[in-house]
Parts: sequence; structure tokens; C-alpha cells
Amino acid sequence: MQIDLRSDTVTRPTPAMMDAIINAKVGDDVYKEDPSVNALEAYVAQLFGKASALYFPTGSMANQAAIKLHTQPGEQLICDKWGHVYNYEGGGVSFNSGVSCKLVDGNRGKITANLVESAINPPDFYHSPKTSLVCVENTTNKGGGACYEIEELKLIYDVCQKHGLGFHLDGARIANALVAKKQDPKEFGKLFGTISICLSKGLGAPMGTVLVGNEALMQNAMRVRKVLGGGMRQVGFMAAAGLFALQNHFERLEDDHEKATELVKMLDQQKFVEKVEKQETNIVIFYLNEEVNAQKFMHNLNELGIRISDMGEGKMRLVTHLDYTDEMHDFVLNNFKKAYPTF
Ligand SMILES: *Cc1c(COP(=O)(O)O)cnc(C)c1O
Repeated sequence: MQIDLRSDTVTRPTPAMMDAIINAKVGDDVYKEDPSVNALEAYVAQLFGKASALYFPTGSMANQAAIKLHTQPGEQLICDKWGHVYNYEGGGVSFNSGVSCKLVDGNRGKITANLVESAINPPDFYHSPKTSLVCVENTTNKGGGACYEIEELKLIYDVCQKHGLGFHLDGARIANALVAKKQDPKEFGKLFGTISICLSKGLGAPMGTVLVGNEALMQNAMRVRKVLGGGMRQVGFMAAAGLFALQNHFERLEDDHEKATELVKMLDQQKFVEKVEKQETNIVIFYLNEEVNAQKFMHNLNELGIRISDMGEGKMRLVTHLDYTDEMHDFVLNNFKKAYPTF
């Protein structure tokens, strides 16, 4: 049995999702004539109460397009030091938009209204870049799946309003946050100018992210997507998988979160584990005891058929997902201790 807990991106379409893919009605989406893409965009726009939505091949491209829509070259955005847009999108912020990042020192990838307020450059001080956008992530990736309280986001929203800043949500795992916190997507829709929602993480579609936003901001979105090389043709097969995922795999994220909580309890009992980070959704981060040889630990886990992510310096990550079955979970709970038996 191979058990892959490296990421929630490793899932494969279920038979029911394959049916949705095979039966999808398609057309040329660059002409806006793909009924399955149009249906997906309408569904996500309505879910978040936004005027407009556009389907992108990847989350990075959706974030990059959003940043372009909110900014002009030479300007600056504010995000957490662990932000995906800063760390994991290949430097796209500067490459695509000519924008720099002002990093703030948040907690588990989450930032606060106060941090944002103090990071804004004075608008009349022409020596420094003009601050024009704030990007937050929910749930946070590097922060171990941490979720925002809606109250904190409202405070950040107020700061953005006061200073005329755009507000973008990298919602790669927003579905996990909504389920974990029992929040209403329309509340998020009210606060953000743009939101990216990933369909290929916990929701389990093979690809795709939808960017939703205000009408005025999204006016240029088709052109920006085209510039980035993201105009696709009969992509309704994949959009149908995305819509299927939203309609059938949303509520079940609760199962992933429960399994993650049980993994935390199991890890807490292992002598080779120094510390387990607070877990809120489907991501579990733990640190190996100083005396543990990480390479040997990973080797032993591989022998057991269990794959996890080594994030360096003893930091390890597990992510639960749709293809992590009850049977696999029992195996991991019972056998993980064998990963470092001599300890
Ligand atoms: C996965 C992820 C993305 C998008 O990644 P792609 O691989 O480009 O789809 C964006 N933001 C966060 C926080 C993510 O975890």
C-alpha cells in the first residue's frame, strides 16, 4: 500500500468525477463558448456573491493575474513573509507586474490590520514605492493550514479602504477554511476585490483555479490571462471536474480535518517528535527531535510505504486528502512509530 501524504494535490479523479469529465459539453473557451466553463464560473461567482469569475489553469496564474489587475509597475504589495505569492510563484510578482513585496512578520502566515497599517508607505513620500495592494492567504500554506477569523479580515479591509488599497485573497484552500470555521463565502466576497479558489487542492479536481472579483477589476482579466498564456480552448472537461468537486467534495473536507487531528494525537505520543504545530485544517506540521537523523527517518517511512514532505531543519509536513482512505489512516496510526524504532 502506497500512502502519499506529501500534499492534497496528489489526488486522482474518482469514477464519478470521470463520468462528469467524459460527459461534459465543451466549446472554445477563448470565445467564451464552453458551457461547462461558463457554468463553473457562474457557480463560483454566485457562491462568493461576486459579479465576475474567470477560470485559470493554475492557482499561481490566478494570483499573478489578480496582482496585475490591482497594481501598476513600480508599486508595492503587502503580504506575510511566508506568503505563497512571494515564496512559491517563481518571482512572478516582479516578473509579471513589476511590483515589489513588503513583507510583514505575521503569525503562522496570518497578518493583522496593525501590521498592514505600519507597512504602508506614506503616499506623499515619493522616494518609496506606492503601496497599492494587500494579499492574504486563507488557509495559510507554509503556516500549516491556519485560518483567519472573519473579524481580523474586516479590520484589514477597513485599513485597505482607508488607504485606498486593493485587497486580494489567495484562497487556494479557502474551502478548508470555510468548512473548518463554518464561515459563509459571501462574507469573504464582501471584503475582497478578488479571490482565487483552487479546485485541485483538497477539492480533488485535476487542475484549475477560479478567480472571482468585482466587475471593474475583472474587466481586464481575460486580457491578462491571455498575456500569461492561460487562454484555453475546450477546457470544459476540466471545468466539469471542478464543478463536480465543488458540489460533491466540499463538505467532506471535514473528514480530512478529523483525520489530521487524529494524526496530531498520534504524533504527540512519539518520542522522536519534538513538537507538533497547532492544526486547524488538513495540514499537519511537526518537528523531529534534535537527535533524529531526518534522512534515516524519511527512508524508514518510505520503506513503510508512507510519503510525507521534508521541509528542512527537522520540519515535516503531512497533508490529508480525498485519496487518503480510512484503511490507509489506520495503517499510519498503527505503524508510524516504526519510522524511528531505535529511539
Ligand atoms: C497551491 C497554492 C497556490 C497555487 O498553486 P498552483 O500550483 O499554481 O496551483 C497558491 N497559493 C497557495 C497558498 C497554495 O497553497
